[in-house]
Amino acid sequence: MNQWVYFFGGGEADGNASMKNELGGKGANLAEMTNLGLPIPPGFTLAATTCRFAMTHSGRYPEGLRSQVARAMERLEKDTGKRFGGEEDPLLVSVRSGAAVSMPGMMDTVLNLGLNAKAVAALAQVSGDERFAMDCWRRFLQMYGNVVLGIPMEKFDERLEALKASCKAASDTDLNAGNWRGLVEDFQQVILDETGESFPEDPWDQLWGAVDAVFKSWNNKRAESYRRIHGISSDLGTGVNIQAMVFGNLGADCATGVAFTRDPANGEKRFYGEWLPNAQGEDVVAGIRTPRPVNRDGAAPGQSLEEAMPGMYAELVAIAQRLEKHYLDMQDIEFTIQHGRLYMLQTRSGKRTGMAAVRIAVEMVDEGLLDKAQALLNVEPDMLVQLLAPVFPRDEHEAARRDGRVIARGLPAGPGAACGRVVLSAEKAVDMVRNKGEQVLLVRNETSPEDIEGMEVAQGILTTRGGMTSHAAVVARGRGKACIVGCGDLVVDLRTKEIRAGGHVIRQGDWISIDGATGEVMLGQMPTRPSEIVQVLVEKSLPAEESRIYRDFSRLMSWAAEVRRMKVRTNADDPGDARVARLFGAEGIGLCRTEHMFFEADRIRAVRQMILAADEEGRRKALDLIGPLQQSDFEGILRAMEGLPVTIRLLDPPLHEFLPQEQAEIETSARDLGVSVEKIKEKIEQLHETNPMLGHRGCRLGLSYPEIYEVQVEAIFAAACALTREGVKVFPEVMIPLVGTVEEFRRLRRLVLDTAEKVMDREDTRVEFLVGTMIEIPRACLVADGIAEEAEFFSFGTNDLTQMGFGFSRDDIGTFLPGYLEAGILPADPFQSLDQEGIGKLVAMAVELGRKVKPRLKIGICGEHGGDPESVEFFHRTGLDYVSCSPYRVPVASLAAARVTLMERDPEK
Ligand code: ADP
Ligand code: MG
Ligand code: MG
Repeated sequence: MNQWVYFFGGGEADGNASMKNELGGKGANLAEMTNLGLPIPPGFTLAATTCRFAMTHSGRYPEGLRSQVARAMERLEKDTGKRFGGEEDPLLVSVRSGAAVSMPGMMDTVLNLGLNAKAVAALAQVSGDERFAMDCWRRFLQMYGNVVLGIPMEKFDERLEALKASCKAASDTDLNAGNWRGLVEDFQQVILDETGESFPEDPWDQLWGAVDAVFKSWNNKRAESYRRIHGISSDLGTGVNIQAMVFGNLGADCATGVAFTRDPANGEKRFYGEWLPNAQGEDVVAGIRTPRPVNRDGAAPGQSLEEAMPGMYAELVAIAQRLEKHYLDMQDIEFTIQHGRLYMLQTRSGKRTGMAAVRIAVEMVDEGLLDKAQALLNVEPDMLVQLLAPVFPRDEHEAARRDGRVIARGLPAGPGAACGRVVLSAEKAVDMVRNKGEQVLLVRNETSPEDIEGMEVAQGILTTRGGMTSHAAVVARGRGKACIVGCGDLVVDLRTKEIRAGGHVIRQGDWISIDGATGEVMLGQMPTRPSEIVQVLVEKSLPAEESRIYRDFSRLMSWAAEVRRMKVRTNADDPGDARVARLFGAEGIGLCRTEHMFFEADRIRAVRQMILAADEEGRRKALDLIGPLQQSDFEGILRAMEGLPVTIRLLDPPLHEFLPQEQAEIETSARDLGVSVEKIKEKIEQLHETNPMLGHRGCRLGLSYPEIYEVQVEAIFAAACALTREGVKVFPEVMIPLVGTVEEFRRLRRLVLDTAEKVMDREDTRVEFLVGTMIEIPRACLVADGIAEEAEFFSFGTNDLTQMGFGFSRDDIGTFLPGYLEAGILPADPFQSLDQEGIGKLVAMAVELGRKVKPRLKIGICGEHGGDPESVEFFHRTGLDYVSCSPYRVPVASLAAARVTLMERDPEK
C-alpha cells in the first residue's frame, strides 16, 4: 500500500530534506531536523501526494489514509505520553500546511487542536495555570473558526478589542483567566451564530476538519494569486503537518520567535531575529504586539533574548549555526521556549534582498562554506535587479533630514528609494495604477495576503505595525520592493483617508517618499539616484573601495563569467548604452537598431525628404545627407565595443513611422522641406497600412528601395575601415531583418557583399565581417536550412516570433492577456517569458535545421527574452551561442547563463 503518512519523532523520521515534493518544504525539513537530533516536537506529515490524489478524485482521500493517520496518532501519543482527546493530560496538536515551494502566509495553520470543554479543564489542571488553558482555548476557537469554518477574523477581533477596552488592557498579556473565559463564551456564540452549529467537541472531527481545510486552502484565491505572480504550478499540492504542541505562552520563562542566521536586509553575518515572551505562534509575525530583537546589539536594555534568557539564546545560536552549515544557506527559523526548554519548529532558506543574497553568497565562499558554483546557485538572477535599483542622492537626503521632511521612521524591510502618491487600500492602489497611470505607495497598518495585487503595483509599501518578519516585509523582499514596516510614528486614519505623523497631515493622493534601506519616510516627491553599483561603474562618482555592494557584486559576476558557456551581449543603439553594458560585462552588441538614429533631430528632416522623394534620384539625394551622419554613429558604437562583435540591423520599421502625425508638425515639415501640406498628407495617406507590423517593413523595404540599405551598408563599412586604419579592432555583423524566404535573404546578402567590397576597395582596407539574418518570422524557422546555406549567423527576434507565432498583436494584448492569465489559459505572459512549448519549438527547429547545414553556425537571440532567466536557461539548453539583452539586464542574463551551465554539469543541483 502507498505510504501517505510520514512520522517524525524520537530522533528518527520517515522522511528527509530531499523529499520536498512529497512532504512539502516544512515537512521535509522537520524530518531532516529530527534526523539531525535537534529538539523537534514529534509529529507526522500527510504527504502532498494525498492532496494531489484528492484534487484528481473530486476531493476523495486515498484508501488507507485514515488508518495510517490513526496509527501515527497512536505513536505520537506514546512518544508524548499524552492522549489525543484524553481527559487527563490531553495531547494538543498543530495542523500546519506546507507546500514544496514556500508560500509565506498563503496557507493556514491551526494551533492547540484537540481542545474542548473537558480537555481545557484538564489542561488547566496539569499546567496549574488556568489563564494559560483559557488563552489556548480562545486562540484555538478563533483559528478554527476562521480557517476551518470560514468565519471572518474581524468577528473575533471585534470581541477581543471590546474586551480589552472594557478591561482597559493595553496588551493581551494584561488579561486574566476570567477575562479569557468570558471571551471563549463570546467566541462560541460567534461560531453558533455564523454557522448555525455549535463548535465540534470531538477532537477527531476537529482534526479532519482542519486537514480538509488545509488541503482546500491550496486552491484559495490568495494562494492562487501568489502562485500566478511567482509562476508556481498549481498541480503540486500541499502537505499537512500534524505536530505535538509546545507552549510559549506558559509564563515568563516561555517565549516564541523567529530568527535568521544572517541579516536578510543587507546580508551581514550576525544572528538576527525577533521574539516575544509568554506568547504563541503567530504573535510575532502578525504584529499584534511589537516584537523584541533577539540579540543585544541595538536593542533597548533588557529587551533582547540574549539578556533575558542567555542560556536559551546560546543554544539557539548554536543550533542556527549548525543548520546553516548543514543546509549551506542562510536559514530562517522558528522556535518556541517552554519552561526553559528550546524547541525548533521550522527551518527554511530565508528570503532576502538582492543585496543580502549577493553578500551572503560571496561571504560564504570566503568562509569556506561554499564553492563558487554553489554560491552562484544560491543567488536568483532576478535579485540582481534590486542591486541596480535607485537610491536617493546623498545630499538631497541630508537636506530632507535637516529641513524636517523626514516625518517618521520605521524598520527598513526592503531596500530601494521609492516615491508615490499615498493610497490606503490595495484596491485603490490597483485602480490608481491601472486606470489612472499613477505611481503609488501603499500605506497600511499591516498587510495580509488579500493585499497582494495592490502590493504588486505599488512602488513601495509602508506599514505602521509588524516586524521584519511580517507579511509586508516578506513579500516586499521577495519582490524587490522598497518597504518600511512597523512605522509606529505614523497614524493611518481610514475614516478621513489621511495619514498623520509628526504634526503633518498627508491625504490619500499626496506624494511621499520612502527609503527602504534606512526606514525613513519623507514628505513630497524626492528625486532618486542610481544604485551604488551604477555610481561606481558608470558615473565613477563613488570609489569602488567605498562600496561593499559593488565589490561583492563584481566578484560574483566575475565567477559567473568564468563558468557560463553562452556569451552575453547587449542591445544598444548608441555609444553611451554600449559603454554602460560593457561595464556590466556585455561581450558585444547583439542588436543595434539603426532606426533610432533616423529619429535624431538633425536627421529626421533628411529622412522625411527621402520618403517624400518621387523617385530613386530624389531618394539618393536625401540619402547622401544621411550617409555621413550614420557613418559617425557607427564609428561611435564600434569604437565603444572595440574588440567585440557588433550586430547592426538594417532599417526595420515601416516608413510611415518617420512621417509627421500632427497638423502643426505637418505644417512645419512642409515649410522645412519646401513642399505643400497636401503633398505630405498625400504621402501619409499613401503609406498608410492596415497592419503596419505585417506590412512594408524590414527586408521588404530593402528590396523595394535598395538604395536605403546600400547607404546604410556603406556607412557601416566606411566607419569600420576608418577605425581599422586607426588600429581599432572592429567586428561588424550586418543583420537583415524580417526574412521569411531564402530568396529575400539571398538577394539582400548580395547587396551587402557588393557594397561592402566596393567600400573596402575604395578605402583600400580589409575588415572582418559577417552577414546574417534575424529569425523572427515563423516561416524562416521552417526554411532555416535554406537560409543557413546563405547566412553566416542567425539571431532570433523572439518578440516578433512570439507575436506572429501566437497571432497576438503585442500592442493589443492588454485587452485579453490579463484574462488569459487569470483563467490559467496561459501560464505566463509569452512576451516576458518565452513560451517554450510552442515558440520554443520553432526556435529549436531553426537551430537544428540551420546547424545541419552549417554545424558551426553562430546563433544568438536579441529579443526581450534574452534578459529573462527562465528563457536564458532554455536558450542554453537549445544550444545558442549567446543571448543579448538591455544593458541593465546583462548581469541577470550572465548569472542565469552561469547557473544553467552548472545545473547541466550536475543535475542534482
Ligand atoms: P506559517 O507557514 O504561516 O509560518 P506555521 O505552520 O509555521 O505557519 O505556523 C504558524 C506559527 O505557529 C509559527 O510561529 C509556528 O512556530 C507556530 N507553531 C506551529 N506548530 C506549532 C507547535 N506544534 N507548537 C508550537 N508552535 C507551533
Ligand atoms: Mg512558519
Ligand atoms: Mg522584429
